[in-house]
Amino acid sequence: MSQTTPASPHSMCPRCRSTTVVVHATSPVAHVWTVYGCTTCFYAWRSTEPEENTNPDRYPTVFKLAPADLAHFAVVPTIPPLRRT
Ligand SMILES: [Zn+2]
Repeated sequence: MSQTTPASPHSMCPRCRSTTVVVHATSPVAHVWTVYGCTTCFYAWRSTEPEENTNPDRYPTVFKLAPADLAHFAVVPTIPPLRRT
């Protein structure tokens, strides 16, 4: 159950700064927490996490990703060649 979010503090991905943010889940008790996800880099975060996990301006630089680089990342784990019997 994903839906597009309206403009909010969580409308930009903390890791790649894309605006492709969706709501993955909300708390059973209304307005306690929301789980957001980025459909560009697949980062996910909960609204109640610290700012360094949720705020694009506070997210650690070393862990940031550029959307243009995603297509060039290696597939991990790599798939080995088929065994010949
Ligand atoms: Zn992202």
